[in-house]
Amino acid sequence: MRRSIPLLIFILLFLSVIRAYDSPQVFDNKVQRTVILYAESVPDETIQQIQNFRIEIISRVRNNLYIIATETERDLLRERGLSFTEVLTSDDELTLYKRAMYGEDMKLSDVYHTYDQILTSIQGLIDEYPGIISKEVIGQTQQGKRDIHAVKVSNNVQEDLDRPVILFTGAIHSRELVTPEICLELIKRLITGYNKDDRITEWLNSFEIYFIPVINVDGHYIVTQNIDPRWRKNARDATDDWKTVRYPMGIDLNRNYDFNFARGGSSDPESVRYRGEYPFSESEVRAVRSLVERIRPVLSINYHSQGEVIFYPWVWRDMHAPDDKLLTEIAQGIADQIVTMDGEGTYDIAYGAGMVGQSYPWLYGRYGTFDFIVETGRGAHIFPPDEVQGIVEANLPGAFHLLDRGKGPGLTGRVTDANTGDALHAIVWFPTIESEEVDRRTTKPATGRYYRLLSPGSYYMVVMAEGYETKVYRELEVREGEWTELNIQLKPVVK
Ligand SMILES: [Zn+2]
Repeated sequence: MRRSIPLLIFILLFLSVIRAYDSPQVFDNKVQRTVILYAESVPDETIQQIQNFRIEIISRVRNNLYIIATETERDLLRERGLSFTEVLTSDDELTLYKRAMYGEDMKLSDVYHTYDQILTSIQGLIDEYPGIISKEVIGQTQQGKRDIHAVKVSNNVQEDLDRPVILFTGAIHSRELVTPEICLELIKRLITGYNKDDRITEWLNSFEIYFIPVINVDGHYIVTQNIDPRWRKNARDATDDWKTVRYPMGIDLNRNYDFNFARGGSSDPESVRYRGEYPFSESEVRAVRSLVERIRPVLSINYHSQGEVIFYPWVWRDMHAPDDKLLTEIAQGIADQIVTMDGEGTYDIAYGAGMVGQSYPWLYGRYGTFDFIVETGRGAHIFPPDEVQGIVEANLPGAFHLLDRGKGPGLTGRVTDANTGDALHAIVWFPTIESEEVDRRTTKPATGRYYRLLSPGSYYMVVMAEGYETKVYRELEVREGEWTELNIQLKPVVK
């Protein structure tokens, strides 16, 4: 994990002093790394020591390590008694990374799907089950002009239904390759389980479920075509031939949203968290926005890897999100369902930062969508092939928990013109809950529908639209276990 640059420089200076006493050599960090080491079942304390030397561990799955090192670093590790095999020596760092991440023949395992294979698989489902699954193009990638697809699942997929929407997205960071696999498997389970599994049948009959399995399609191409396994950002300014792309070009799409954009990520184009010049500069992120504006998800999961932790909105200075209690409850509910790779526990939860241009503060802050980042798996961005199915399977119950929460409790209804019955784009405001950090929540423009997840209890609600008389509800009761329905007619102001 890369720290901020000033901190990093400080640590390096500090360590270079320590190393002068601690080991025979003083390291020069400009010395080229030329060797990949592999060490099995390394104890945690030893891993900590390696990290203290600032030697880079590329992956650490079940304490089996791939380490990229200079010759001096390798010698130090040997001196310290670490037993390892020297996997590959090369003057080219990219070759070393390819060997560590792709394996012996430096080609990605076919356990992972290319984007074309994902689309073919989805098209196969559409051909077989045209009534319950469809796909659409929501935009093109910034550099490669490749189509970005969204997938929709419901029991009547040809219609836009007046229902809660739940959204799952993957691979906004392209090297996090297990995340589209989770989306794809989830789609398959929902489609093949319809009318067979009661729980799945109810979800498809009650919701519209959307997926963007791969947001960063260009980056995913770079990783899955064996060009560069490190690629996280999009491919802005990739070369025309797509073979000699220069890492670390590109923009971190998950820092390019406009909610606290300037406070998030990095302004350094070389950083893996480079946020871009301005919010929504990247067409991939605009594609997500156009879909979200239209479908207004009530709940969503944005899959990442790694860490076996769920981040959610938020800690902002010292404050938590207005819906903190309910957000925490749902995050914990999802986490409790996902078993860790070691089989000994379940995922953790943690507050994410509110002041970053990431998708979850944007979705929550702008639209009121309860969005969760699920950091899947532990120890790598690209997992060894034999780990993939386990991570995918482990994550499905977490997704199922989110789907169950689409049933409420909370308030819902349509806000319409009292005279004409037309849908209104109205503000639905809970003044005792919502702070100034979040935008006012509004109805879905096309239908006038609002959904507000709430714990059972009594609430104060204000509904207003320009040119209409405001309505205030002082003691609205929200029932347990389901949506409480309240339709609202607003009277036009008489001039
Ligand atoms: Zn990520």
